[in-house]
Amino acid sequence: MVTKKIAILGGGESGVGAALLAQAKGFEVFLSDKGALKESYRATLRAANISFEEGKHTEEHILDAVEVIKSPGIPETVPLVLKLKAQQTPVISEIEFAARYTKANLIGITGSNGKTTTTLLIYHLLKSAGINVGLAGNVGDSFAAQVIDDSFDYYVLELSSFQLDDMYDTHLDVMVLLNITPDHLDRYNYNFQNYTDSKFRIIQNARPEDTFIYFQESLPIQNELEKRSPVVNQLPISLETSVTPGGYLTNGELVATYGSSVFRLAMADTTLRGPHNAINTLAAVLAAQSVGIDNESIIEGLKTFQNAAHRLEPAGTVNGVQFINDSKATNVDSVFYALSSMEVPTIWIAGGQDKGNDYSQLDEVVRQKVKALICLGIDNHKLVSYFGNKVPTIYETQSVTDAVAKGLEWGQPGDAVLLSPACASFDLFKNYEDRGNQFKAAVKNLMMNT
Ligand code: ADP
Repeated sequence: MVTKKIAILGGGESGVGAALLAQAKGFEVFLSDKGALKESYRATLRAANISFEEGKHTEEHILDAVEVIKSPGIPETVPLVLKLKAQQTPVISEIEFAARYTKANLIGITGSNGKTTTTLLIYHLLKSAGINVGLAGNVGDSFAAQVIDDSFDYYVLELSSFQLDDMYDTHLDVMVLLNITPDHLDRYNYNFQNYTDSKFRIIQNARPEDTFIYFQESLPIQNELEKRSPVVNQLPISLETSVTPGGYLTNGELVATYGSSVFRLAMADTTLRGPHNAINTLAAVLAAQSVGIDNESIIEGLKTFQNAAHRLEPAGTVNGVQFINDSKATNVDSVFYALSSMEVPTIWIAGGQDKGNDYSQLDEVVRQKVKALICLGIDNHKLVSYFGNKVPTIYETQSVTDAVAKGLEWGQPGDAVLLSPACASFDLFKNYEDRGNQFKAAVKNLMMNT
């Protein structure tokens, strides 16, 4: 029998995992990355005897594959992918490939914002309730690598639109769609409907008995559901009305109803803050209820959850001024929610690489919460001209240390300094983690020297 060949484009966590799984399933495997691989991934591939190349894509080693697994970072418009599609070679994501080899139940989470928080929270609720659960997708270890042993009963998968684009047959038992707001439009022909369609691929294989959890006040979600009327067990989340079944917030209390199970808990008794996190928490609670976890275990889980860094993360208090690191807020919608979560006068640090931002959504919340704006970016003109007559004081800098020092200088005891940039970080930093870490280090430094 001739061994079938799988080619893998991109040698990051997902590509290397896919290579290992493909090899374990008896395929001939070739991995190709246009850039350089991390040393640890190189070592993994060598140890497994998997052939690979770096710094180029050699077409003759790729075009003869029966199937190609593409990293979500590679746009479908690059010439090699176009060639593969023209000759009808299936191009799929690592998630699609891995899902063929697992017997576990799958819980998938997507949205423009809140994916990581909600994914980690669902994982935590299931794990702390004693369920044998794995975490994969955009967070954690490669799904494909974990599926080699397939030892979990459930997987919680964070799914970006890029991953969904290369998914076709994967069946998810529980689907969560948090919101759809403009992001990554450069990959969608600057067409918001294309991006919306991509997000809606999350329910493309939904069956009537599956569970679909979504935020009902997201207008693009509402419009699409009216158009599509999917046949699936729908659980809406609302911040405005009492939805049953579904989840809502009333007078600071989270209420979630699934079947005969009614969950209630004050938001203040959880470790998360802000209206966006009420949505994320309700989504997680409904997901946990839908897989049969009892409300007491869910409450325990919510009390012990620790979110990933850089999402409204407390960074320290100096002279009564609280510093908060929300470096992950790289678009306007996430800043809207960050500012909405602030309960004290706020000095807002924003800026970086603009992604075509429309700041008008922030007018009201900025008027209510922001006493000063510190622009931290190489080119701040858009922020300065938009907020120039809306915020009492504006300061510009290219230094995170300077931004933090200015925040302290302007802050009164009880105020907060919030880094929530609304922009990408690549002008001054390696990535959003680097920006958040430098911010935290600058605050620590102030704490030690003040
Ligand atoms: P993602 O993985 O989708 O980027 P994260 O959980 O990492 O989402 O959060 C990214 C940013 O979005 C953070 O700044 C956070 O405060 C904000 N955010 C989190 N959840 C939501 C939500 N449901 N709606 C809007 N913004 C959110």
